[in-house]
Amino acid sequence: MQENKENKQNSENNPPKKNMNKNIFWIYGGIIAGIILLQFINFKPTAVEIGWRELNKLLQGNYVSRIDVINRDFAEIYIKSDRLDTAKSITNSTNDLDAKGPQFKYVITSADKFDEKIAEAQQNLSVNDQPYIKNIKRKDIWGDALGWVLPLLLLVFIWFFMFRRVGGGGGGNNIFSMGKSRAKLFEGSKIKITFDQVAGLEEAKTEIVEIVDFLKNSEKYTRLGGKIPKGVLLIGPPGTGKTLLAKAVAGEAEVPFFSMSGSDFVEMFVGVGASRVRDLFAQAKAKAPCIIFIDEIDAIGRSRSKRASFNSNDERENTLNQLLTEMDGFDTNTGVILLAATNRADVLDSALLRAGRFDRQITLELPELSEREAIFRVHTVGLQIKNDVNLNLLAKQTPGFSGADIANVCNESALIAARQDKDKIDHQDFHDAIDKIIGGLEKRSKVIKPDEKQRIAYHEAGHATVSWMLKHAQPLIKVTIVPRGRSLGAAWYLPEERQLSTKEQFFDEVCAALGGRAAEEVMLSSISSGALNDLEKVTKQVYSMVAFFGMSDKLPNVSYYDSQGQEYSFTKPYSEKTAEIIDDEVRIIIEQQYARAKKIVVEYNGKFELLAQRLKEKEVIYTEDVEEILGPREFTTDARAVIDGVKKMRDEKKNNDSGVKF
Ligand code: ADP
Ligand code: ZN
Repeated sequence: MQENKENKQNSENNPPKKNMNKNIFWIYGGIIAGIILLQFINFKPTAVEIGWRELNKLLQGNYVSRIDVINRDFAEIYIKSDRLDTAKSITNSTNDLDAKGPQFKYVITSADKFDEKIAEAQQNLSVNDQPYIKNIKRKDIWGDALGWVLPLLLLVFIWFFMFRRVGGGGGGNNIFSMGKSRAKLFEGSKIKITFDQVAGLEEAKTEIVEIVDFLKNSEKYTRLGGKIPKGVLLIGPPGTGKTLLAKAVAGEAEVPFFSMSGSDFVEMFVGVGASRVRDLFAQAKAKAPCIIFIDEIDAIGRSRSKRASFNSNDERENTLNQLLTEMDGFDTNTGVILLAATNRADVLDSALLRAGRFDRQITLELPELSEREAIFRVHTVGLQIKNDVNLNLLAKQTPGFSGADIANVCNESALIAARQDKDKIDHQDFHDAIDKIIGGLEKRSKVIKPDEKQRIAYHEAGHATVSWMLKHAQPLIKVTIVPRGRSLGAAWYLPEERQLSTKEQFFDEVCAALGGRAAEEVMLSSISSGALNDLEKVTKQVYSMVAFFGMSDKLPNVSYYDSQGQEYSFTKPYSEKTAEIIDDEVRIIIEQQYARAKKIVVEYNGKFELLAQRLKEKEVIYTEDVEEILGPREFTTDARAVIDGVKKMRDEKKNNDSGVKF
């Protein structure tokens, strides 16, 4: 993306920062050099150091005119001007003596002894010839100064380097701008990204189009007293276009766009993050209406530890608190909208998701077949491609690719073609580019191999079939085999509005959740790690059935639930023996439901196979596909209404991803 053009405002405000920084270093260096130089100048090389024997000779020979006793440490000896030459020979000094003096220097070891010795040495001299002796206290300014200036300078240097280090790369940082936000500003009129450049993501786009309208015509909404949302959270794996979408909002609304990464707030120095948050919001308010985009918000928004623990990160919590304060503080109608992106919504602090903060959440998924084709189309617009390039085929060859990966493929294909001096990019170049990128992706284990795709299709078809055949399982809305996180594919169910769950409902839900693994075992005679999420969910649910709801045969009507949530934090409220029974009961229930799921898969084997086949082809299927293959299922009128509504919305390309996933 065109990220280099935007630092406009920053550089307008403080263009010479980087230079100034360098100058400061030169100035400090100069000062140090100066001090050292002065030290040398101050040192008088002309004064020859002599011992007592020479001094005694000089005194007795009546050469000395004056002795300055400096700090009682050493004596500076001045020779009578008419006797300089002879004095030189007495002391064996080779250099000519300086006329001005002092010519000699004598280091005093004991001040009292020195006085005595001097008196003794000049006994024979007449009073007039006796040298003039003066005690002088002399301050060695430079020596003293050096004593404290040097360590200070050293400290300053160390600080400088530390801060530079910490500042790490981000342009023009020094100590004085630590607390400034490092947000990049994109001027609205310069952002050329529009929704047309965002392919697929129809659901996300319909939700976010509203934000553009809020920014453009805020009066329309506030006129009636409504409040404009403050924050929108974009959740999705890396490269699915979260930044792109946020930029497109700014581009469509033609408002400025502040972009910052969550990790930019975090420093090792206390208070820096909070002050950066303050600064960011102050800047944004000055530019309102505008958008603040915080990428990787989980870097600051991780849930705060409930108990004070030893490794709690106070600085991060301060930063988060400041963010919450700012979000509460700004008036909704100032026209600042905060967009944030994360791929881990589960670790975010619940305070962030509360109403009035990030109360809107938009989930982006890895693109499915048709979306991948659309992304290919967007990214081949500027490329010279040959007629034989089949975008649909390319989309089929790139399961598991994110939008960013596809953008990468397109760019790479152009480079490959250019390397061979071709006029146009042909299909083979795209092939080669895909191969190349898969190589990189395989290391990150994102790419799906054909046999894996088969397994995922069976797994998800298993969920679909089993849940379809169970009376109490939640109604199915959508199944995909596009991987998400660590799970293989996903199935969305319509969560029922119910306050109570019966034992039968629990059993059916557990059975449906085990349907994926059951299908893998039945069809492939082997199981995989792809069922992790399912198993986690099932285990939790069955444990709560047994230990909390009293629904097992051996432990009926007891609950070890602690509604205060404190008492049992260290000890369990039941004996070891009961613990064993709970474990047994959980295992038995899961075993039973697993067997039940397998039985359903076997029983509907033919239809199940058809379903898996269709899933493999289309990558996403909806209720009506399942209905067509497995036959009608009984729905409550409410559920039926929702399913029909979803279908209608989808027909208008506006379907919504709400619901629970298995
Ligand atoms: P994220 O912020 O989710 O990690 P980005 O928005 O930075 O991902 O996406 C990186 C690049 O991938 C974009 O600049 C764009 O070129 C491409 N890209 C991702 N998703 C899409 C999409 N849906 N349509 C078109 N291009 C996309
Ligand atoms: Zn599953």
